[in-house]
Amino acid sequence: MRLLIRVIHEAFNEPKSYFTFARMSIEVKEVSKIYGSQKALDTVSFSIQKGEIVGFLGPNGAGKSTMMKIITCFLPQSSGSVKVCGFDVSEDPMEVKKRVGYLPEHNPLYLDMYVKEYLGFIAGLHKIEGKKERVAEIIEQVGLQVEQHKLIGALSKGYRQRVGLAQALIHDPEVLILDEPTTGLDPNQIEEIRNLIKKVGKSKTVMMSTHIMQEVEAVCDRVIIVNKGNLVADDSSGEISKSKNNEFVLKVEFGSAVTEQQLTAIQGVVKAHNVSGNNWVLGASEDIRDAVFKFSVKQDLSVLEIQKVEQSLEDVFKSLTV
Ligand code: ADP
Ligand code: MG
Repeated sequence: MRLLIRVIHEAFNEPKSYFTFARMSIEVKEVSKIYGSQKALDTVSFSIQKGEIVGFLGPNGAGKSTMMKIITCFLPQSSGSVKVCGFDVSEDPMEVKKRVGYLPEHNPLYLDMYVKEYLGFIAGLHKIEGKKERVAEIIEQVGLQVEQHKLIGALSKGYRQRVGLAQALIHDPEVLILDEPTTGLDPNQIEEIRNLIKKVGKSKTVMMSTHIMQEVEAVCDRVIIVNKGNLVADDSSGEISKSKNNEFVLKVEFGSAVTEQQLTAIQGVVKAHNVSGNNWVLGASEDIRDAVFKFSVKQDLSVLEIQKVEQSLEDVFKSLTV
């Protein structure tokens, strides 16, 4: 009873953290990591909700692998705190490990073990009951049926990556941490692994690192961007994806003068910015090319040039990390 009163009391004093607690799979608070004299992570904070597929984007050396090793209890942070499914990585590493599947960068595998033998060995480490059935189930889930009796060393890189995913999934963790899962694969293998991640991601929280923007666009619901150990963008508000999906930007050069008022009156145009002379940049929530042409005909204006401006995640990334 006394405990209950304390919990209720604390919940009211700190309502946000208590009531969002159950939905959070990963909570990183002001984490720093110092290697010798180098700061690989500098007071980084973010949270990932249950069920999200989050891209962890950044150039080489940004600190992505370091952060993932801390979340999976392979490396202690220098300061700050990390919770996975409510368990602190420093205080309850065993509870965290039960709930996390980790595919490290470069996927270290025992090349002289057979696929089935290796997965059986990993299932044993997790003390999984009904080991044989679980191994068969996971082999099917990641599409390794044909390769299951082969030596890991005899597999293509794409299939080795499936073995890596299978070992990360075998104990049915709530959270999957995938460190550059498609690096080094050919385009077909990349496509297959991305599809597999999307499939397993339907029932899990996934955090995957990558330095490829298109990967985030292809797989993730949300993106967190790091650069030189600092968090430079966290799209928890949906701002980045909104600008990516909804904003239609058009560069137009008219043959004669138009006013901002005239342009913003065009159906769909949200803003009109005069670049120089009769050059304009129009922002819209939809494809306005047709509307702009109709407007020009109606106003007896000529359109000398019209160009759609792609605002990709790459542009966003560039503007954030330079
Ligand atoms: P990313 O995965 O984004 O490429 P890392 O987390 O691997 O980045 O590395 C971040 C920075 O920390 C890099 O500058 C790297 O050289 C440094 N670093 C990583 N691991 C170690 C280590 N064990 N000892 C010293 N420096 C390290
Ligand atoms: Mg890395």
